[in-house]
Amino acid sequence: MAETDIRRIAVLTSGGDAPGMNAAIRAVVRTANYYKIGCLGVREGYAGLINGNFLKLGPRSVRNIINQGGTFLKSARCAEFKTPEGRAKAFEQCRQNQIDALVCIGGDGSFRGAKALNDEFGIRTVGIPGTIDNDIFGTDNTIGFDTALNTAMEAIDKIRDTATSHNRVFFVEVMGRDAGFIALNSGIAAGAIDILIPERKDSIEELFGTFRRAEKSGRMSSIVVVAEGEELANVYDLAEKTKKEFPDYDIRVSVLGHIQRGGRPSCADRVLASRLGYGAVKGLMEGETNVMAGIRANELVFTPIEEAIKKHNDINKDLLKIYEILAM
Ligand code: ADP
Repeated sequence: MAETDIRRIAVLTSGGDAPGMNAAIRAVVRTANYYKIGCLGVREGYAGLINGNFLKLGPRSVRNIINQGGTFLKSARCAEFKTPEGRAKAFEQCRQNQIDALVCIGGDGSFRGAKALNDEFGIRTVGIPGTIDNDIFGTDNTIGFDTALNTAMEAIDKIRDTATSHNRVFFVEVMGRDAGFIALNSGIAAGAIDILIPERKDSIEELFGTFRRAEKSGRMSSIVVVAEGEELANVYDLAEKTKKEFPDYDIRVSVLGHIQRGGRPSCADRVLASRLGYGAVKGLMEGETNVMAGIRANELVFTPIEEAIKKHNDINKDLLKIYEILAM
């Protein structure tokens, strides 16, 4: 059995929820239990840490959740934690409850909070990237990304049925905040004619050019996938501009919205969450702190939280080329 001076950890989920967070909590709790470390769950993210909203978690408290979307600990956004006074209250709760370390499952905002708590009070912290957007440096995939991709792809597949039946042009908006990972990958998987993402400068003329080429090749219907953070225009404006240029087109807009955040986590997300939950606890035991656990090239790696927050994952250039070649 590995030696560690950590007696008790707390785990919380914070910021936007993502499918697979429950699987990550389960992995943290069961790994801690295996190594005889106590575990407290914190309800509602940093708000629960400030208010001492804890529950003791043992291996059986996390049964039947690996297949559930969302987070049974609930997530929250907490303005008070952004203030030094709020964090001092949170630290006091940690002290009173003999919490030696914190595992924070969330996105970059949540990691900023974990880093502040570590910098100011020395609480040992490890982050686990849980967000559908995949916009966190230090891991190839974030927990929830794969499930969201599958949800988006299945929804676009359904839209394609109606697009084809009526010779329609659909603009489909997918989530991703400022990142285009969901748009690019779901667009490729669903055979979109064009994909607009914030990482690349798009022009309306290029989009019109795509439609003209599609017409020439005899295409009667098409789907354009647009990332919510696309800078050229939002889906409704894109649809309107396209209608002006091509008055004969039967154009529809579909915003997929929050369905992309829900649902049963995919196999890939459950396995990722299990690896990262285990990795976070092992990392803490081995002295890691102020880091994020991630998987890169199939290996568990720890990235300083500061780097995870500051740097960005690049869009894979090959994928951009591939969709352009395959779209026509
Ligand atoms: P996400 O983790 O998904 O990026 P948010 O950006 O909403 O979500 O952050 C979640 C929570 O993390 C916030 O409500 C706040 O409590 C905490 N947080 C975010 N940024 C900071 C910060 N700079 N300092 C301290 N806490 C922060």
